[in-house]
Order: sequence, then structure tokens, then C-alpha cells
Amino acid sequence: MTSTDHDTPDASAGKQSDNPTDAPVEPIDVAVIGGGPAGLSAGVFLARAGLETMIFEHGKSTLQKCAHLENYLGFPAGIRPNTFLDIARDHAETAGCGIVRSEVTAVRQPEPDGFILECAEGFPGDSSRTDGVGTLRVQFLLVVSWSDTEFLAPLGVDTHEEAGHDDIQVVDVDHDGRTNIEGLYAAGRVTDQHHQAIVNAGHGAHVALTLIEDIQPQFYNDWVVPEGYFARYDRETPVGCEEISHEERRERVRRSRETMRTYFSDHGASGD
Ligand SMILES: Cc1cc2nc3c(=O)[nH]c(=O)nc-3n(C[C@H](O)[C@H](O)[C@H](O)COP(=O)(O)OP(=O)(O)OC[C@H]3O[C@@H](n4cnc5c(N)ncnc54)[C@H](O)[C@@H]3O)c2cc1C
Repeated sequence: MTSTDHDTPDASAGKQSDNPTDAPVEPIDVAVIGGGPAGLSAGVFLARAGLETMIFEHGKSTLQKCAHLENYLGFPAGIRPNTFLDIARDHAETAGCGIVRSEVTAVRQPEPDGFILECAEGFPGDSSRTDGVGTLRVQFLLVVSWSDTEFLAPLGVDTHEEAGHDDIQVVDVDHDGRTNIEGLYAAGRVTDQHHQAIVNAGHGAHVALTLIEDIQPQFYNDWVVPEGYFARYDRETPVGCEEISHEERRERVRRSRETMRTYFSDHGASGD
């Protein structure tokens, strides 16, 4: 598993990305299909755990239909939905996710494991990661899209009718987001959660933690603690945790203030 430092890739570049050799194509660790609250939240956790993570989205989160987001904890006066999504996207990228603006049109399951994604606009960047015909190999898949899951049909994933909507099929998952297909997880709106962004973001994080735990059970998700914290309890610093000094903590607090000011002054000016 590798952590990555992607630039935001340009999906249209993928059309030239023929793999000139017959070398087997290395799969990426996780593809997240959907870049709304659930997908972006999942991406933050997955990338932070060192999994090479690519988020696919075609820029149409349901949240963009909301007039003003006023029930997401942490924003007492509410927040413009597009500002919220911009911040969430930047957060996922800062954590190490690649974000690809492209529609996933089909998913197939080759032998012995993993998945092959087909994408409307091809794939970005590194030609060694594609087979040259607009497909990408991935080891694990997290679906956090809308409830239109036609693209999953070739996999035989179990679905059911959403309560009260006999025209909408949602994906069957267990308590932790696993589907009936090994390696395929689902979260958020597509699994019939409550239709609220904070619930869907929380569910994305929950299912990402399930996936991380299934792959690397030793990974610990407390992230950043003050220097010496674990020594006080006679414990080694767990895998995935970082201890930081007082000075480093002050520097991070300063940077976070500066960053948040930028978002709100930029977006605040235009209003819409
Ligand atoms: C009119 C309206 C008002 C609302 N108001 C509120 C509110 O006030 N507060 C609140 O908390 N919630 C509100 N919601 C609900 C909120 O929008 C959803 O709960 C939330 O957006 C669901 O998050 P999600 O990440 O599961 O899905 P979404 O936000 O819908 O994200 C789905 C993502 O999947 C991507 N996608 C879908 N199919 C594909 C594909 N084949 N390939 C690639 N990408 C794909 C989309 O581009 C998108 O990025 C409102 C919804 C509506 C319709």
C-alpha cells in the first residue's frame, strides 16, 4: 500500500494514456465512486491510512440542491453548500486523495480479485495504471454515489427498493457497509441512510474505517496527540498516530486559522 501525493488529475488526459507495454497493470488500492459528503469524508480516512485512493465524481452532489446548509455541526450560521463541498474536496486532496472528474459507467470483476472501472472520459495521468482502453484496475471499491447504481449491474450486487420509492434501488449493506461482493463497500445516500449531509459524511467515515480495519487491523485512528501522550500510559505510539510538540501544535493551529479565513473571505464576497 502506498500513500500518494496526487495533483488533481485531468480526466480528459486519460484518453492518451495507452499502456505501451504488456506489463500487468498495478491496481490502485481504493476507488471511491462519489464525491459528496460521504465520499469525501471516506477519502480523508482512507488516504490518511496510507491507501492510494482515487475519488470519482461528476460534480453533481445532491447537496447542491440545498439552498443553505444549516444543520451541519460546526457552522452555527450555516454554510453555502458549494463552499462546504470545496472545503471538503480540499480536505480530501490534502489528506492524499486523487480526485477525478469523470462518470464511472461500469464496474467489472476480473479474476482472481479486485475490480475494473470503466469511465466516461477515460483516466488521468500515469499510463502504467490503465490498460489503454479507458479502464482502471482497483483492489477495493467504495460506492458513495446516487441511488442510480446501473454501473454496478455486472457485479450482481444485492439491492432493494428504497422505503416509499419503488423506482429507487439502494445497495444492501451490513452494519459496517460491506456488500454481498467481497471487496465492495457502500455508504451514504446510496445505502438508504437518512438524507442529511452530516449523517452521510459520518457513514462514509464509518465504512472507510471498516475497510481500513479489514486490510490493516493494527491501524489506529486517533491521528495527532501531544508529544509524550502514549509514554505516559507505558504504550508504544500506535501505527497511524503522530505525536507533535507544543510548537508544532501552535503552528498547525495558526495554519488552520489562516486556511479557514481564506475560504470564507473568498466565497463570502460573491455570496452565491
Ligand atoms: C432539495 C434538497 C435539499 C437538501 N437540504 C439539505 C439540508 O438542508 N441539510 C442536509 O444535511 N442535507 C440536505 N439535503 C440532503 C443532502 O444533499 C444529502 O443527504 C447528501 O448530499 C448525500 O451525500 P452523499 O455523499 O451520500 O451523496 P451526494 O452528495 O449525492 O454525492 C453523490 C456523488 O456521487 C457522484 N456520482 C454519482 N454517480 C456517479 C458515477 N456513476 N460516477 C462518478 N460519480 C458519480 C456525484 O457526482 C456526487 O459527487 C438536501 C437534499 C435535497 C435534494
